[in-house]
Amino acid sequence: MTAALTAWFARARRDLPWRPPPGAPRDPYHALVSEFMLQQTQVSRVVGYFSRFIEAFPSVRHLADAPEDRLMALWAGLGYYRRARNLHASAKAVVERFGGQVPSEIEALTTLPGVGRYTAGAIASIVFGRPQPAADGNVQRVLVRVEGRDLDPSAKSTAGWTWDRASELVRAAADPGSWTEGLMELGATVCLPPPQRPRCAECPLAAHCVARAKGLEGRIPRPKAKAKLRTVEAHTLVVQRRGAVMLVPVRAGGLWAGLLAPPTVEAGTAKPGDDARHASPEGLARAWRAVGLQPVGELRRVTSAAVVRFVVYTAESARNPRGARWVKIDELGEHAVSSAHRAVIALALKASRSPRERARRSAPPRKAGSTPGGRGTRRRA
Ligand code: SF4
Repeated sequence: MTAALTAWFARARRDLPWRPPPGAPRDPYHALVSEFMLQQTQVSRVVGYFSRFIEAFPSVRHLADAPEDRLMALWAGLGYYRRARNLHASAKAVVERFGGQVPSEIEALTTLPGVGRYTAGAIASIVFGRPQPAADGNVQRVLVRVEGRDLDPSAKSTAGWTWDRASELVRAAADPGSWTEGLMELGATVCLPPPQRPRCAECPLAAHCVARAKGLEGRIPRPKAKAKLRTVEAHTLVVQRRGAVMLVPVRAGGLWAGLLAPPTVEAGTAKPGDDARHASPEGLARAWRAVGLQPVGELRRVTSAAVVRFVVYTAESARNPRGARWVKIDELGEHAVSSAHRAVIALALKASRSPRERARRSAPPRKAGSTPGGRGTRRRA
């Protein structure tokens, strides 16, 4: 079985920027970066980010020395931003503790921030040829189908079974790196998850596959129960001044922590230390010295942690508040701003360019926090 898979992988492997040509040695630093980026993220999304990242930080020392802002700007839009901070910390640890060489042993790899047994196993096996397992969701799906195991995909016992089976198989492989990467590739390109059908006719493991033999390949594994996400309503203020928008650092522990975003507050909430009056769009405008608050629309974004409904407002700057950064609109791409907040800013800018809004902006400015037509701002229905 291992020989059939590695022979298939040599023929069918995709050309990806972190994979050198067949036979060439792997770059451990490239593997470290790509494995962090691939956590919870599809290959097709990672390709462009990886190339830009390596161009900016060609070695682990470049990455270790980079300012966090620069790194976050290059990660912006890829999501799961804690990975970026962990990768940065790992690069520093590689330089400080391992002389700039990514370690090859599981025990050392798992001391790096954000490197769990999966990432450590992938690097040890794929880069250094160690007989170590690396079982992600793709690998689990292939193995439960090949063995015909109708296991609950969310159960810890299933992850344990998968890890044990992957360990046995990688130890039996003549080329552990090709076996591990081939198994991942098979799960990603042939043994597809529902609602797609696995492409068994093209599969190098078809002759060994119990699920296929029993006609169960469409029923194993069972669908995962979806986790319920919390819903957040966020009031977001896009404040403009001379072709720039106001951005502020997102507080630690919040969604998009460590990035820059337009001033935002969760509706009806105040974090410890906040003035509770700021937990409204009017309070937010007062806090950031903005005038002419106007609701311009809403948009919804789903993150790994929450469904966020942004209620978007435009405003103009009355004064330059402390802590605000002004970023030129055409330079937003160079800053660490999430794709969700870029969409929020785009919505606000579009509204600002409407003839009605231009007419309003040409009127004399109002006092900070005041709103048209009375004491409060009513959201557009
Ligand atoms: S034969 Fe089909 S179900 Fe079995 S491993 Fe191959 S693609 Fe998956």
